Amino acid sequence: GDKNSNDPTAETQSNTSTEDDKELPASEKSLLQKIVRTGLITSKHDIEVQRRDPKSPLYSIKSFELLKLHPNLLKGVYEMGYNAPSKIQETALPLLLANPPQNLIAQSQSGTGKTAAFVLAMLSRVDPDLHYPQVVCLSPTYELAIQTGEVAAKMSTYCPNIRLRYAVRGEDVEKGSKIEEQIIVGTPGKVLDWATKYKFFNPKYIKVFVLDEADIMVDTQGHQDQSFRIRKLLPETCQMMFFSATYTEDVMRFANAIAPMSVIIRLKREEETLDNIRQYYVNCNNKEDKYNALVNIYGGVTIGQAMIFCQTKKMALWLVNQMAEQGHAVALLSGELTVQQRISVLDRFREGKEKVLVTTNVLSRGIDIEQVTIVINFDLPVTVTRDPDFDTYLHRIGRTGRFGKKGIAINLVSGSSDHFVLKQIEEHFCKPIECLNTDNADDME
Ligand code: ADP
Repeated sequence: GDKNSNDPTAETQSNTSTEDDKELPASEKSLLQKIVRTGLITSKHDIEVQRRDPKSPLYSIKSFELLKLHPNLLKGVYEMGYNAPSKIQETALPLLLANPPQNLIAQSQSGTGKTAAFVLAMLSRVDPDLHYPQVVCLSPTYELAIQTGEVAAKMSTYCPNIRLRYAVRGEDVEKGSKIEEQIIVGTPGKVLDWATKYKFFNPKYIKVFVLDEADIMVDTQGHQDQSFRIRKLLPETCQMMFFSATYTEDVMRFANAIAPMSVIIRLKREEETLDNIRQYYVNCNNKEDKYNALVNIYGGVTIGQAMIFCQTKKMALWLVNQMAEQGHAVALLSGELTVQQRISVLDRFREGKEKVLVTTNVLSRGIDIEQVTIVINFDLPVTVTRDPDFDTYLHRIGRTGRFGKKGIAINLVSGSSDHFVLKQIEEHFCKPIECLNTDNADDME
């Protein structure tokens, strides 16, 4: 190769932090996580419940049938492949569907079934014979609102009279007219404008108000204020549903202001562990050597899908070009892509169109791709001071409750500083990292 002119290794050795090492904003991570998700995250923890009023009903249901849903809605739920409620749904759904309506604040990590829960509640509260908005659901971004709307559209496949309107950038309503759809899903600013400035709907008729991804909202300038202002327009009797992936003081202050007298339910996060991961390292001399090891690994085992982490964008690009030249179906997810491009890369990967996804630190945290059976650290994760980055290592290869299956992690190491980092990682997690000889196929079984 063109070693001297364009050697990414050289950059890695000397560089501190590049644009590409930065993590994505929380809203985008949440979105990408939804895109790649194919199923529920399960948790070994129990639900914690706090009730303001101990007399309010509290029970959990183990089947959707017990909810007395409209048959067409139930049909939609089953068609989505939901056989039984998730842990958070078991407790949340009876509360969300109770009469008289009950305010709820629910916190659990992304992937545990919150969206499906409130979408089901929204749909079942709607009167399809009335042609005006009855439900408002706020999301922090355009893309997240669309994701929620799509879940609602799917779940209401057999309820053709329930209709939904997006209140997001690019959507317009004819001046002076009224919205006829029963459900509005949108971003706070646009919904507020539609309610107050343009009066496209009457907030007094809203009976369900959902605030989703509240932890992202509290970090977004103006969202809290806009949400309060919408809330103030709603009738006293409106049911408030408040959802967040995290449980911080800021979020809870926001929650209590939006949804007073709520039942609060929480599901503790399942911690990532290395317990079910077999960890290996491969000795390499340079990046070409690492590349060869990679090709051997790739050719040697029948693996499902692989994720490969590089420290810099330049290295990732080099690797992708190298692999593509040799005819491997490989995708690159890096920092400079647009939201739409990232979605399409992840969509294709999830569908299995590419077997290998190469990425930098943009994906190091908060994104779990279930069908990945092998994670390769083309570069070990290090901090700007070139110390081992234990957290990132754990996030890249660690697994949580959703994975029953075992995983494999392979670290490609070259040079003494790499070996030192690897040794520290091994000691930190108290888990052995074994040497793997990629020239020897027997070693790779
Ligand atoms: P959250 O809003 O907490 O991130 P979602 O509602 O988006 O979680 O659910 C995560 C994933 O699990 C989605 O792919 C969703 O379709 C699926 N899912 C949700 N509820 C169930 C269920 N009861 N059974 C099976 N899959 C479910």
